[in-house]
Amino acid sequence: ANKRRSLVVGNWKMNGDRSLVEKIQSQFSQASLANMDWAICPPAAYLGLFDSKTPLGAQNVSQFDSGAHTGELSVSIVKDLGCQYVIVGHSERREDNFESDEVVALKVEKILAAGLTPILCVGEPESVRDAGTVFEYLTKQLDAVVTLVGISAFANIVLAYEPIWAIGTGKTASPAQAQDVHGFIRGYLANLDSNIAAGTTILYGGSVKGSNAKELFSQADVDGGLIGGASLNPEDFLSICLAA
Ligand code: PEP
Repeated sequence: ANKRRSLVVGNWKMNGDRSLVEKIQSQFSQASLANMDWAICPPAAYLGLFDSKTPLGAQNVSQFDSGAHTGELSVSIVKDLGCQYVIVGHSERREDNFESDEVVALKVEKILAAGLTPILCVGEPESVRDAGTVFEYLTKQLDAVVTLVGISAFANIVLAYEPIWAIGTGKTASPAQAQDVHGFIRGYLANLDSNIAAGTTILYGGSVKGSNAKELFSQADVDGGLIGGASLNPEDFLSICLAA
């Protein structure tokens, strides 16, 4: 919203196949999306199947540069495969792979050093929302990254607010709930550097669909979305991009 350029990113997670790669490319080949940015984050094994017209991101990278880390991908590898973006700190990785705030910060540092754009995910579980401590919870997640890379680095970081209770549940945050937290996040950044805060792209993620995208994206501090389930349907994903 406002003067910031909108961004919509599809996170396929551990879904999709070769035929979805083809379908998404043909769906987007005729689309006119000149006034916004979009990207797809497929499973890393499919990155090399996309043509150069599809903006790409990775769903994760290693915090290490190279070497004896079986099963991991480095920033230089995903860059070599054409990625511009890397999702980092997704709640599923924080949970499944025990990624701490500190590991997430190290990954952000590596992604920035490679000249790629981290899409840094933050968001609270339902218990934290019920306890009324959402802002404290997000402050801790953000502090870990700011402490390591500094506020000026946020000129090159995209943030994604993804309340865990809204991810894959069909329980979207209301536009007012999203704006409340996005406004808080921008305020957190503004306390450190108001220019950086004004320019930072803050995405919302959590059960965004074609039917609710427009209202979410019209909120003052919601600059686009990180889309899970709906990004697996090329028509739905395009309609979300057109809403941005
Ligand atoms: C996500 O995991 O990034 C996400 C927002 O998923 P969904 O859209 O399926 O809730």
